[in-house]
Amino acid sequence: MKYISTRGNSGEYTASQAIEKGICNDRGLFVPKKFPKVSLKEIQEMKFSDYKEVALNILRRYLTDYSEEELKECIAVYDETFSHPEKTPIVKLKDDVYVLELWHGPTLAFKDMALQIMPRLFTKAREKNNTKRDSLILVATSGDTGKAALEGFKDLKGIKVVVFYPANGVSDVQRLQMQTSLGENVEVVGVNGNFDDCQTAVKNMFLDEKLNLALNKFKLSSANSINLGRLLPQIIYYFKGYLQLLRDGEITLGELVDFSVPTGNFGDILAGYYAKQMGLPVGKLMCASNKNNVLYEFFKTGTYNKQREFFKTMSPSMDILVSSNLERLIYHILEDGRALNKLYNEFEQTGILTLDTESLKKIQETIVPDHASEEECLRAIYETFDKNNYMLDPHTAVAMNTALKNKSRKTIVLSTANIYKFSSSILKAFDLEKNNEFENIEILKKLSKEDVPLNIKKLNSLEILHNRVVDKEKLRDVLKKL
Ligand SMILES: *Cc1c(COP(=O)(O)O)cnc(C)c1O
Repeated sequence: MKYISTRGNSGEYTASQAIEKGICNDRGLFVPKKFPKVSLKEIQEMKFSDYKEVALNILRRYLTDYSEEELKECIAVYDETFSHPEKTPIVKLKDDVYVLELWHGPTLAFKDMALQIMPRLFTKAREKNNTKRDSLILVATSGDTGKAALEGFKDLKGIKVVVFYPANGVSDVQRLQMQTSLGENVEVVGVNGNFDDCQTAVKNMFLDEKLNLALNKFKLSSANSINLGRLLPQIIYYFKGYLQLLRDGEITLGELVDFSVPTGNFGDILAGYYAKQMGLPVGKLMCASNKNNVLYEFFKTGTYNKQREFFKTMSPSMDILVSSNLERLIYHILEDGRALNKLYNEFEQTGILTLDTESLKKIQETIVPDHASEEECLRAIYETFDKNNYMLDPHTAVAMNTALKNKSRKTIVLSTANIYKFSSSILKAFDLEKNNEFENIEILKKLSKEDVPLNIKKLNSLEILHNRVVDKEKLRDVLKKL
């Protein structure tokens, strides 16, 4: 399997080269030249496979320059660091809705599904490509990617990680998780700005030749969801979720299932699109946005306009105005790097992108967009608990709202975070919120009767190791001092 740039001017790469590079020289993103197919018969044969077996079956079709032995070594991580034997347990709620829990990894958000395995894929990529220089991995985070990357890459040889997060745009637990990170090779920097400022700064640093020259002892890379090593492992749980329903007798082979996905950078839902292209019987992919509903508008009208007000919401990991992975979806629809290049050049200059009507129609056959206000998010939390005795975090609640509004068949809601990452927001739905985050955790525990994960419990006894905050114009200076 070979990988090419969405913008058409970068030649062909192996998977390991693409994972190590992160982003193409022409500013495009790596995409597979074609989608590997999985037949219904093969899906049937996987019915009783465990997570690791499904992972191997999917990844070996994409990572063709990794040996089966190497893939198994990477995939073993799911047994080592995930707390649930099923890795992604599925919970049946009322009204044909199922919740697929993607937060049983060490940092308690779905980012671990990819960021636990990606450092292993990355390390093997460095070996394969005979990379001698250290890798410098730049991460922009809206809250969860940062900690997941810090955890995944900590103390790996030959790799340094710098995380930029919006200083005032993450939850208390998210911030503490990052600020207390251990590891000789990690830096965490708060930014006076929002996620888009962090992401844009990181993208520009990549393409800044002067800076690259100054940093020439490093090879730059990215652990953001634009990296192929993030995208591919996320395909696995779409298959696994479907297989779990098949195994449990909830669906029959070939029956279509819809997925509702709480969306920010469009990475999670894009993996669902890949699963569908591969042959998984996926009906609709519901793209659930919060009050930052730029994607909703795009999928309704065909025009993406990033020039708009930015809202801080209760689902901060979705507070994004520029959804990077959308570029990949548009590429797969257009199948024409030159046309995409034109669109994105325009977008980079004007902040506006308009898709032709025919392409938009094609997208609308699969993607159903919706968005939830803050009130709707709280109502989804309250009503789901009231009706099902099941507590949602605010991100999953946004997807639940979308699922219930648009449901036409059995629907899997992807649950992307453990509730204790967002206790105070959740308690707002019940009017029980207090000022202190750790007090809120206790209140939420009494209410939900869910165990508090150890990694959250111990947070307030850990030492703050990283408390630097810099202006968004000064991010380069951080790197110059490495
Ligand atoms: C990152 C994140 C999302 C959004 O996922 P994207 O791949 O960026 O669309 C949703 N919920 C949570 C909890 C997240 O951490």
